[in-house]
Amino acid sequence: MSDRYTQFANSPLGRMLIKNLGLPAPLNLDRFQAGEPVINGAVLLGAAPGAVLTAGIARTLKNIQAEVHSYAQDQVVKTAKEAGLGVKVWNPEVDTEQKFKALVFDASGITRSDDLVQVYHFFHPVMRKLVESSRIIILGLPPEACTTPRQATAQRALEGFTRSLGKEVKKGGAAQLVYVAQDADKQAESTLRFFLSPRSAYVSAQVVRISASNTEAALDWNKPLAGKVALVTGASRGIGEAIAKTLARDGAHVVGLDIPALSDDLRVVTSMIGGSALALDITAGDAPAKIADYLKSNHGGVDIIVHNAGVTRDKTLANMTQQQWDMVMNINLCSEERINDELLAQNVIRENGRVICVSSISGIAGNMGQSNYGMSKAGVIGMVQSMAPLLYAKNITINAVAPGFIETAMTAAIPFAIREAGRRMNSMSQGGLPIDVAETIAWYASPASAGVNGNIVRVCGQSLIGA
Ligand code: NAP
Repeated sequence: MSDRYTQFANSPLGRMLIKNLGLPAPLNLDRFQAGEPVINGAVLLGAAPGAVLTAGIARTLKNIQAEVHSYAQDQVVKTAKEAGLGVKVWNPEVDTEQKFKALVFDASGITRSDDLVQVYHFFHPVMRKLVESSRIIILGLPPEACTTPRQATAQRALEGFTRSLGKEVKKGGAAQLVYVAQDADKQAESTLRFFLSPRSAYVSAQVVRISASNTEAALDWNKPLAGKVALVTGASRGIGEAIAKTLARDGAHVVGLDIPALSDDLRVVTSMIGGSALALDITAGDAPAKIADYLKSNHGGVDIIVHNAGVTRDKTLANMTQQQWDMVMNINLCSEERINDELLAQNVIRENGRVICVSSISGIAGNMGQSNYGMSKAGVIGMVQSMAPLLYAKNITINAVAPGFIETAMTAAIPFAIREAGRRMNSMSQGGLPIDVAETIAWYASPASAGVNGNIVRVCGQSLIGA
């Protein structure tokens, strides 16, 4: 699906007209290309006094060979040095030409609201020094785990700051808040890599929680899913096709699933990626047992389940038939629950396994004419949140993405005016691509993301809908 306005906005004439008329100016976002480093450009690292996450951040920055700068902050320079990371000291008054691709601030040391001014001191001098598609990451402690109300208040305040900065950063930039639980700093690397890189192109203003985990995966970051088996439902086209291709790119053997009527399209996708095709309707009574049998007999189990298949049947509730209601609920939510139950009952999901669901911002904000769809997608969020602690005990994680407007056949069918509004009403003034959802799922799927559990991450360019 082509977005002609974004193409025009990136032409010389379009740029000039859009600037003069004050129209939204969507930028061609940086997206990951094979062989590229995690980040292309300088990183400014800072920390509030007493911060406890800086050493872990420094290890990651060292591992990705980032060019790192800091203000003349002894604590940051010393901690980085101990982690083996070289840091150049930057004086904004002297080196006025320096530009940054990413800003990373460790706010974990902030224990009271008076000290939130540390956030101002770090970000204020550098906000005009950002290049296109920049990355801002603030790290803090989960408010619910703080020891005093004042500390919890200050840490919670970071959320409003991050979401506001996401709206200010412009030029395709993004801002995220990562809460890291006690003893979980070793689990933060996959998340830092994801948010620093162009893989998170269309993700902004998200709050992610990292919990402690005993699983420490040694992996090749270029092929993190090597040796893993992934089941992707609705894999014949759209977002599901992008997920299947992305997980295969990362080394997984992908079992693509779609309805029998689409089995030819499905085979085209799975043969391109050396995967296998499983044609069945997930709502069929025997589907959960058939999926479990297939995965056990062909692969001895499964590592990653991606519940992507989904449909819309939009009508206001007064005009909606029960058939439209039942169909959406059954495909989008009830069948996912039945498949999970069966795979768990038969122990088909292996150690350090992943269950990944596709919700929607309609499940967060609701949407006119989508009472069935919004309910099913909110149910998906409920499923993730309620199952996360149970699966954690089995060393399996469950998370969801909540896409906003993504350019697919589903959104191409929306009437023009509503489609244009959906596309532009976000901080990036454009729709996302299926690859943006797929990259977010690949981050969840990584064996290094064992501490990422129970999260709902919106892939929506910070849509104005659903806040
Ligand atoms: P899509 O192009 O319609 O693809 C969905 C796939 O799932 C289709 O191949 C579909 O086949 C298949 N499917 C439907 N019912 C099935 C069943 N009973 N058993 C097996 N497969 C079935 O949709 P998409 O835009 O890629 O969306 C993928 C997911 O993202 C969905 O869960 C959707 O709700 C969610 N999402 C999309 C957007 C967006 O902007 N595109 C935004 C938020 C959330 P059929 O031909 O039968 O439909």
